[in-house]
Amino acid sequence: MRGLMQDWPLTVDRIIDHAADWDGDRPVICRGGNGDILRTDYAAIGIRARRLSAALAALGIGRGDRVATMAWNNARHLEGWFAIMGMGAICHTLNPRLFAEQLRYIIGHAGDRAILVDPCFQPLLAELLGSMDWRGIVIILGDEAEIDAALLPDAIAVETLIAAAEATDARWGGFDEQTACALCYTSGTTGNPKGVLYSHRSTVIHMLMTLQPDVFGLSITDVAMPIVPMYHANGWGMPLSTAAIGCKLVLPGAQLDGASLHALIESEGVTFSAAVPTVWQGLLHHLDQTGGRLTSLKRVIIGGAALPESIVRRLREHGVETVQGWGMTETSPIGTHAKLTPAIAAMPFDDQLPFRLKQGRPPFGIELKIADDAGARLPHDGTTPGRLHVRGPTVSSGYLGGEAGAILDDDGYFDTGDIATIDGQGYMAIVDRAKDVIKSGGEWISSIEIENIASGHPKVAHCAVIGVPHPRWDERPLLVAALHPGEKAEADEILAVLDGRIARWWMPDAVAFIEAMPLGATGKIDKKALRVRFAAFPET
Ligand code: ADP
Repeated sequence: MRGLMQDWPLTVDRIIDHAADWDGDRPVICRGGNGDILRTDYAAIGIRARRLSAALAALGIGRGDRVATMAWNNARHLEGWFAIMGMGAICHTLNPRLFAEQLRYIIGHAGDRAILVDPCFQPLLAELLGSMDWRGIVIILGDEAEIDAALLPDAIAVETLIAAAEATDARWGGFDEQTACALCYTSGTTGNPKGVLYSHRSTVIHMLMTLQPDVFGLSITDVAMPIVPMYHANGWGMPLSTAAIGCKLVLPGAQLDGASLHALIESEGVTFSAAVPTVWQGLLHHLDQTGGRLTSLKRVIIGGAALPESIVRRLREHGVETVQGWGMTETSPIGTHAKLTPAIAAMPFDDQLPFRLKQGRPPFGIELKIADDAGARLPHDGTTPGRLHVRGPTVSSGYLGGEAGAILDDDGYFDTGDIATIDGQGYMAIVDRAKDVIKSGGEWISSIEIENIASGHPKVAHCAVIGVPHPRWDERPLLVAALHPGEKAEADEILAVLDGRIARWWMPDAVAFIEAMPLGATGKIDKKALRVRFAAFPET
């Protein structure tokens, strides 16, 4: 017998409709390209999104068409998201930090029909399109005066489109919840980037998952600032979660350095935020230099790369609770959170730390397993590492175009490419990405664990541990460190913090000091670049 409840498709247009109808006057604050603060609200975003949607339809964009965005976290970008998804087209966020050849590949592979672009990215887009046979529509996320016609002669200003369109002309909603709504390419650290195609249903379920108290735990009384860019796995879903509950949203624009973030957090009273670890290291360094304090921030989600202990401790000194999250583009991206069970929450803080530093437990909607290379499940004993697999309604079942072939095992699980342990209390801990694992004398060394401790050294701004070829042991760990500006250190002094805290044979053979840590397209440390640079260490 079937249930007798209404068929109410889970589609993204309903999120902004709800926000506009019920929380229309709740503020959305956005820092513009010139540093100015712009103030709008969900009602205005809702109406402008419908008008832009009508304009896109008039330009020939229809359901299933891919429309790209190349933009920072700002209100026009958010309006673009809703305009595209609201009409059943597919919002394809482009990461401007990818290599030009990857971006060209992605635009071509996705078959983007239009690109919405921040004024500051016009030179980049012009360079990309200059060597492509692309005949789509370029829409500048600004007004006429912001168009650089010398670079993009056929570009149209979004403000012109919005001014000329009627919201009532939008072909809004009314499609099946399995319709695709968004497209993100993985950064393609191996091979070509692969397109992860989200559906309305998976996106709405993901939004509901993020709102569980142990995940984002957001309320209408929060002031939320997604620092993680909207082009990095859809800003971890935050812009949709905040609209759904109507909390004040602060969009930081292009300035993501410590000083700019601190100023915005304090001036807008931000209580909740999310970003990769390197961003928090930048913010904490700024606070150290200036003696600044975080007076409003209460809780942050840190993920995308392993969370170092020093960040947890130092943010705690500012009264900020850190929650580590693990996930990936293919998981929408929420996968696990290091939420504390009652037994662990009751422990003294130092005893909680080992659990806080694990990647955590799955929320409802995510199933996890670890398996050996043959696919046999491995025990949850906290020590046996295996390939981490994940299954659920917010996990990819294949990539756009299907070139990568079938990506699920016989039980429908996706192999994440991460190596992890799961302990008896259900906490998953990432040992390494399979491609970052260091194998020395046949045994694995976890670069993440070593980095976690070494990054606590007060002189170290960023550090990474990579495997370098070794004639006897196959590979040995090398610690690569970038110190804070003006600092000097000897290798022994840095290695001393590891003494007694890791197995002796895990101790890096050397420390290589570099000026600046190479960061990948999503702000994470680029270990591939380091491996190339130090392939012949110590000769280089
Ligand atoms: P990319 O970094 O390739 O652009 P993603 O953002 O999807 O793509 O990265 C997902 C990967 O990032 C995961 O498979 C995992 O290796 C790593 N990762 C994400 N969160 C964490 C975390 N909290 N700790 C350790 N690694 C993490």
